[in-house]
Amino acid sequence: MANKPDLLTVARLAPFLMQPLQGAFTVHERLHEEDAAAFERIAPAIRAICGSGESKVSAELIAKLPALEIISIMGVGYDGVDVAAAKARGVMVAHTPDVLNDDVADLALALMLNIARRIPQAEQYLRQGRWPGGPMPLARKMSGARLGIVGMGRIGQAIADRARAFGMSIAYTARSAKPALPYTFHATPRALAAASDFLVVITPGGAATRKLIDAEVLRALGPTGYLINVARGSVVDEAALIEALQQGTIAGAGLDVFENEPHVPEALRALDNVVLVPHIGSATTQTRHAMAARAFDNLQAHFAGQPLPSAVPECR
Ligand code: NAP
Repeated sequence: MANKPDLLTVARLAPFLMQPLQGAFTVHERLHEEDAAAFERIAPAIRAICGSGESKVSAELIAKLPALEIISIMGVGYDGVDVAAAKARGVMVAHTPDVLNDDVADLALALMLNIARRIPQAEQYLRQGRWPGGPMPLARKMSGARLGIVGMGRIGQAIADRARAFGMSIAYTARSAKPALPYTFHATPRALAAASDFLVVITPGGAATRKLIDAEVLRALGPTGYLINVARGSVVDEAALIEALQQGTIAGAGLDVFENEPHVPEALRALDNVVLVPHIGSATTQTRHAMAARAFDNLQAHFAGQPLPSAVPECR
């Protein structure tokens, strides 16, 4: 059909997003990676980009697309997008906040329970027929423990809501204190870690939070403390974490995100005091459909000349 805007995808997008995209746009699927010559020919016509939370949209890519108007990310995190370069060109950036809060918070609690109660290990114990030989060693109680949340935004607050039902005492750190919330503020991750049994990381990724959780924070968390990361791999110093786990500097970790996804260091995979899952924070059918709908709505709104349902804060 004529007059459909040209759109470049920068991730393998789910069929339930591809289908509406193909109805409304002329879609060029990851052409910049698949066929450099064809991409060069089509680049001047590209008016939109659609990608996932893990997509990279660099200043170089933006510079190759003179007609680009909007970058729509199916995900709340957009640390892979060079927003400054987009803004300098007047390109809008949109994401999908809120619709994934429940799932990511659910997963944070699931990781806390799994690492503290050693559920994966307990299941293996049963499956391997070891139960008749005696009971499992005792685990760690989660209810009533001290929870520290690094990043008290939309998802951080959803994690706190759930933790209250577990009778946990809740403290947090963020760029600024939130006096309206009934939780204790600590100015630094280190001070928060020192006051926590479980430290859950849920900030954005990117330069401002790179290695926010370093060896010093892990030392403050201490040998009975657990680290949970559902933010981005870049927020935790992964080498320092592996060392802390190997040496018993902390008790254990539950991780959904890693520095070099989808590659997870062998040293981490070899440890018994970790629960590792492959970036599944928002990976339910219900939530991914809601995210896809929002990513599409942002594009539709832009080309209809309407305000975007969810532009990123820098573009509002
Ligand atoms: P949000 O509402 O923007 O909240 C982010 C929080 O992080 C805010 O409280 C913010 O502080 C804090 N923060 C930002 N920079 C910080 C810094 N340098 N030091 C300390 N705290 C800092 O975002 P959200 O919707 O909750 O999402 C948070 C992040 O979760 C996303 O950006 C994404 O990276 C990650 N995520 C992961 C998955 C997954 O699959 N595992 C899924 C969805 C999201 P202020 O409140 O003071 O500004």
